[in-house]
Amino acid sequence: MRSALIFPNIMDPESFRQHGHELIDWLADYFTNIESYPVASRVAPGDLRRALPRSAPEQGEPFDRILADFRELIVPGVSHWGHPGWFAYFPSNSSPPSVLGELLSAGLGVQGMSWATSPAATELEQVVMEWYRRLLDLPEGFTGVIQDTASTSTLVAFLTARDHAVADRSRLVAYWSPEAHSSVGKGARLAGFAADRCRVVPVDQRFAMRSDALSEMMAADMAAGLVPAIVVATMGTTGSTACDPLRAIGEICRRHGAWFHVDAAFGGSAAILPEIRPLLDGVELADSMVTNPHKWLLTNFDCSAYFVRDVGALKQTFSTSPEYLRTAQDDEVANFRDWGIPLGRRFRALKLWFVLRSYGAEELRVMIRQHLALGHELASWVDAEPDFERLAEAPLALVCLRHVPPALAGDEVALAAHNARIMERVNATGRVKLTHTTLGGRYAIRVAIGAFRTERRHVEEVWGLLKGMIDDR
Ligand code: PLP
Repeated sequence: MRSALIFPNIMDPESFRQHGHELIDWLADYFTNIESYPVASRVAPGDLRRALPRSAPEQGEPFDRILADFRELIVPGVSHWGHPGWFAYFPSNSSPPSVLGELLSAGLGVQGMSWATSPAATELEQVVMEWYRRLLDLPEGFTGVIQDTASTSTLVAFLTARDHAVADRSRLVAYWSPEAHSSVGKGARLAGFAADRCRVVPVDQRFAMRSDALSEMMAADMAAGLVPAIVVATMGTTGSTACDPLRAIGEICRRHGAWFHVDAAFGGSAAILPEIRPLLDGVELADSMVTNPHKWLLTNFDCSAYFVRDVGALKQTFSTSPEYLRTAQDDEVANFRDWGIPLGRRFRALKLWFVLRSYGAEELRVMIRQHLALGHELASWVDAEPDFERLAEAPLALVCLRHVPPALAGDEVALAAHNARIMERVNATGRVKLTHTTLGGRYAIRVAIGAFRTERRHVEEVWGLLKGMIDDR
């Protein structure tokens, strides 16, 4: 029967139900068989674009045909971050409860810009952020809000710090270490910190920021009439999961009145373990902190938890109150449009709520503990292998290593080329995916353990491949 809507009702509730079941079936099979896919896509640049029409269809197409194209054209171009052989970049997990939460969020189509635009979106976000604050044992004075990414969270910190500082903008200085994520320098730039107002504070042997150097740099800046405005410290750097000394840095910030932002995007979730929480020691002194459930906490992208001490300062920077958004409840509720950059906000709290309730804190701790144990085990295998070198400590299940054949020892350029070749050959098997970085000028292959399907046999496999793909030419 033809719908009474003016706009044709292409997918009525019954066909939505049918196709929805098909898609959930497809995903359930995908989760079961994910290991049979090559971890990283093998398509070449342009393959997919060439396979698809240049314009949108004039007439609607049957969903079956769209789904067939998804299977045949799109899936080969997908890299499988949930594959147990995913050791690249950083863990970015999805999980079945999270996917279902995301589905509901999309289906509800809520815009959570204000409390009044969907009260549950705001209040559930407040509840899950408080749950997460407690799980991380963060100070009671911290209040959480979900941002899309850590990059946005850090930009929010820069913008707030800039407005909070009591000096004209041209004199404000920002500090971070060379191991900080690229989003930090980007955030500073976007917030208007000129290059000559950005300081890169040296790191120690463990790739952690040297607080003594920070202190000296701040003193020199102040002597020159400048104003230290913000320091960004990292708990769990992207390169090697190094952890900056938060307490010492926080004390320096307090002394000089600088905003203290902690980037724990990657490693922060591990602080739900009491044995890892000491790596966050000193976060009590922070003004803001970011950690990403969309990395290690089984919540699919995007879901970045931003905690802030002074909500008033945050709102001062981001509040807007045009007539068309005003409501009778504004004085008694949180309107999250005032806590960040975008106006429209997705109902992200649903998926995090599904995850926290489905797994429970204990199961999440078990998973992260297993990853950490696997990281320590791999580190011990590397240490025991004479021609392999570990390039950093591995506090958070990321092992940085390289092969150093005696003939190449000391030749950094040759070692980089040699290890890049090993990594390429390992990746070409399609069984695992690795990426690299440089640490102290040395090429490092990174093995980031944290995909939730990864078991000991997968770590054994990546280690076997690394040893087996040595090209001694
Ligand atoms: N900070 C750190 C330490 C990271 O490791 C990453 C991502 O790897 C980011 C920030 C950026 O995260 P997002 O993609 O959420 O912006």
